[in-house]
Amino acid sequence: MVDISQIGEFGLIKRIRRGLGYKNKEVKEVVVGIGDDCAAIKLTKGLLLIATTDSLVEGVHFKLNTISPSLLGKKSVATNISDIAAMGGIPRYLLITIGIPPSLSVEYIDSLYKGIKEATESYNVIVIGGDTFRSDDRLIISITLIGEIEEEFLVRRGGAKVGDKIFVTGSLGDSALGLEILESGINDSRSVKVTQQSSPQSSPIDEIISRHILPTPRLEEGRVLATKGLASAMIDISDGLASDLRRICEESVVGARIYLKELPISDTLNNIVFTQDKSPYDYALYGGEDYELLFTVRGDKVKDILRYWEGMKTPIKEIGEIIEEDEGIVLIDEAYNIIPLIRDGYDHFLK
Ligand code: ADP
Ligand code: MG
Repeated sequence: MVDISQIGEFGLIKRIRRGLGYKNKEVKEVVVGIGDDCAAIKLTKGLLLIATTDSLVEGVHFKLNTISPSLLGKKSVATNISDIAAMGGIPRYLLITIGIPPSLSVEYIDSLYKGIKEATESYNVIVIGGDTFRSDDRLIISITLIGEIEEEFLVRRGGAKVGDKIFVTGSLGDSALGLEILESGINDSRSVKVTQQSSPQSSPIDEIISRHILPTPRLEEGRVLATKGLASAMIDISDGLASDLRRICEESVVGARIYLKELPISDTLNNIVFTQDKSPYDYALYGGEDYELLFTVRGDKVKDILRYWEGMKTPIKEIGEIIEEDEGIVLIDEAYNIIPLIRDGYDHFLK
């Protein structure tokens, strides 16, 4: 018997994929099957249906006492929207399955759905169905999101080529820090010291926590990258830059070089004085749930993208480049040391 903790989530999905053994020619309407942010199925000429599913399990992905039901509803929609964004698509329909422990009140479910409704309105998607069952001891929310994309615009994980530049949207590591602050139960200066203030209404710490509680999927950004033909490969960062970069490299059969000093790190994360032996880079590389987009751009399109991006709200940052597969995935530190990237981000099973 092989313990799942020996192969991890990554290894397990690979095994499932291999076991199913579909050959492309047998199911040719499936343009993208297992192995990307969404599956893509050819509907009619030129139009693909895309689908993704994600689950949130109490005790694994959230705790009832650290997130309100309405925010939980919003977050569960947002994380699925992020996968559609990572393909460059347009989200359309949701199927929602919930496993409810008997201890939960009807009012809790009301609030959960109030959050879901608000999220669906802001992303212009509608709930078309789902399933409800009794779960013995914990709340389980599983969402399937269906969207569409023009075949010519589809951006896959496997499109990166040697020489492409690697970019990310927004900033990295805030969500993981937000989670730590939430879990410590102390969101004041006792555990962390912040030396920079932002807007007077909400403290930097509140902003960091909200990046964990309610991530902003980069839907508009993903769509622009796809429709303008700017991204050659793309993924949303759900398990941390290290893990999700590895997924792009595996699917594209390439290596990558990342410059640590180029990682976009928020002022708050940078200004936190850590009590433990951790640096902002640890959060940016290995922290999960940022839901930023990680994408590659052909060398000759870098000028285009920078020019195009001048009018966009969310910043983008070049953090490295794609190299040959046999060079591996490496980090370059401030002293130009080459450090092979061995560790990955969050894995549900690896110990
Ligand atoms: P994401 O983080 O974008 O949701 P994952 O890395 O979790 O994607 O999944 C990678 C691929 O494996 C996706 O195509 C997903 O649909 C597929 N997958 C994950 N779990 C299973 C499973 N139990 N059975 C079949 N396919 C799966
Ligand atoms: Mg994804």
